[in-house]
Amino acid sequence: MERFYTFVLMANQDDKFKKVISHAKEYGYVFQSSEIYDGLSAVYDYAQNGVELKKNIRDYWWRAMVQMHDNIVGLDASILMHPTTWKASGHVDAFNDPLIDNKDSKKRYRADVLIEDYCAKIENKIDKEVAKAEKRFGETFDKAEFVSTNPRVLGYQEKIDTILKRMGESLGNEDLADVKALIEELEIADPLTGSKNWTEVKQFNLMFGTKLGASAEHAMDLYLRPETAQGIFVNFLNVQKSGRMKIPFGIAQTGKAFRNEIVARQFIFRMREFEQMEMQFFIKPGTQKKWFEHWKETRMKWHKSLGLGEENYRFHDHEKLAHYADAATDIEFKFPFGFKELEGIHSRTDFDLKQHEEFSGKKLQYFDHEENASYTPYVLETSIGLDRMFLAVFSNALQEEELENNTTRTVLKLPAVLAPFKAAVLPLVKKDGLPEVAQQIVDDLKWDFNIAYDEKDAVGRRYRRQDANGTPLCITVDHDTLNDNCVTVRYRDTMEQKRVKIEELHDIIKQEVDVKTWLQKM
Ligand code: ATP
Repeated sequence: MERFYTFVLMANQDDKFKKVISHAKEYGYVFQSSEIYDGLSAVYDYAQNGVELKKNIRDYWWRAMVQMHDNIVGLDASILMHPTTWKASGHVDAFNDPLIDNKDSKKRYRADVLIEDYCAKIENKIDKEVAKAEKRFGETFDKAEFVSTNPRVLGYQEKIDTILKRMGESLGNEDLADVKALIEELEIADPLTGSKNWTEVKQFNLMFGTKLGASAEHAMDLYLRPETAQGIFVNFLNVQKSGRMKIPFGIAQTGKAFRNEIVARQFIFRMREFEQMEMQFFIKPGTQKKWFEHWKETRMKWHKSLGLGEENYRFHDHEKLAHYADAATDIEFKFPFGFKELEGIHSRTDFDLKQHEEFSGKKLQYFDHEENASYTPYVLETSIGLDRMFLAVFSNALQEEELENNTTRTVLKLPAVLAPFKAAVLPLVKKDGLPEVAQQIVDDLKWDFNIAYDEKDAVGRRYRRQDANGTPLCITVDHDTLNDNCVTVRYRDTMEQKRVKIEELHDIIKQEVDVKTWLQKM
C-alpha cells in the first residue's frame, strides 16, 4: 500500500488558481465556451465530469432546502419574463455597477471592486500582524483580544471602515465623482499596469436585452433574467393558493441568470451566464430578524456539512444595503484568490411584493387566519451561485501530495456525496475473464450509483487517474476474485486498501456517499 505523509503546498495563490483551471479542463470538468472560435469571455461549458458534480451540488441543495422542509416547495420559472417585472424590481433603473476605465491601459474595472481590493490588502496586513503575534505568544495567544486592542491592527481596521463607509455613502447617493476622488486619494493604480490615469466613474446596467416576436415593428424588448428571484415573487400567490401554503413558507428555485458583468476574469467565479439556487421565505412582517438569524445559521451549517474546512468560511455583514433590504450578509469562502462572496442572505422586507402589486395592479396579499387579517408578507432570501459553489468545492478539493516513495500524486478530494463517479471498477488485467466479472459488478451497482469502468494501463496509473478525477473508491478485480468472490477496495483519500466480498460493495459505497449521512452533519 502506498502512503503519503506531507502536502506539497502549491507555490502561491496564483499558481494554485492556474492549476485549478487547467485541472478542470484536463479532467473534463469545465471548458471555455466555443473554444474552437477562441472562446466567449466569461462563458463556460460544463463537461462530462463537471455536469455530474454540478448536478450533485444542485441536488444536495435541493434536498436540504425542499425535501427536508415540509413548508418549502420548488418552482421552475422561465428565463424570459414580462418586461414590466424588471421595472417593478428596480433592475431597469438601478441594476448598475460603477465602472471606471484606465486611460493608458484601456482596461475597464468596477470602481467599487478596485476600492474593495485596496481594503483587502490592508486586511492582509492585519492577518500578518496576527500571524506574527501568534508566533510570539504561542499557546497563550488570544486572537480576539489581540485584534481588539493592538494599536496597529486597530489603525488598519479603522482605515478599512472609513474607506468602505465613504464608498457606501457615495454609491448610495449616486455621488460618482466622490467614488473617483476616493480612488485618486488612495492612489489606487491599475492592477495590470500601475497607471493611475483614470476616467470618470459611470453607471453601467448589467442586464442583457433581447427581443420577442418575429416582425421588427411589433417586437417586444425583453431582458434575460438577471436573477431567479423575481420568477418566485410573481408566482407567490399562485403557489400559495394552489399549494395551500401557510406562512411561514418558502419557494425554492434553481436556474440560469444572466449579467453583462464589467469585469469577469476569475474563471467561473464571475460569469455572464450562470446558475443560481435561490429560496424566498415568506414571513409575517416583524419576524424578519428572527428568520434572518435562522437562515444565516442554517445555511452556514449546510456549507460546513461538506467538510471543506470551518476556517474557510466567514460572514460579511453589509454596511451598504440594497434598496430592497433591511439586513444582509454574505457567506464568504476562501477561494484561491482570497475570501469572496459565495452566498447572500437578504432580508428583503415587503419591497418586491409591494412593487409587483403596484406595477401589476393585482393584490399579492396573504390572509392570515390566526390574525384574521391580510398583509403583504416580508421575505427572507437565501441566494447562492451554483457555479461559485462548484468552484469552492473543486478548488478546495484539488491537492498535491508527496508520497513516501518520493513521487507526488494529484488528488481531487471532493466530498464523496458530490463526486461525479462514486466508484471505479478496474479489472487487474484485460483477460482471463476479469473484465467480465468487473463489468457484472458495474451492471449491478449502476442502478444506485454512478460507476466508472476502466481497464486501460497498469492498475497504479488507473488509481492515479481516478484520484485526479475525484472518485472516492476504486474496486479492483483480480485472479483471486474468480475463486473467493472478493475484490480489493481502495480509498482515494487514505489510499487504504481492504479485501471485501462483492456483495458487500453496495453497502460500502452507500456508507461513503449517502446524502442522509452527509446532511445529518448539519
Ligand atoms: P457580486 O457582489 O459578487 O457581484 P452579488 O452580490 O451581485 O455578487 P447576488 O445578486 O446577491 O450577487 O447573487 C447571489 C449569488 O449569485 C451570489 O452570492 C453569487 O454566488 C452568485 N453570482 C452573482 N453574480 C454571479 C456571476 N456573475 N457569476 C457567477 N455567480 C454569480
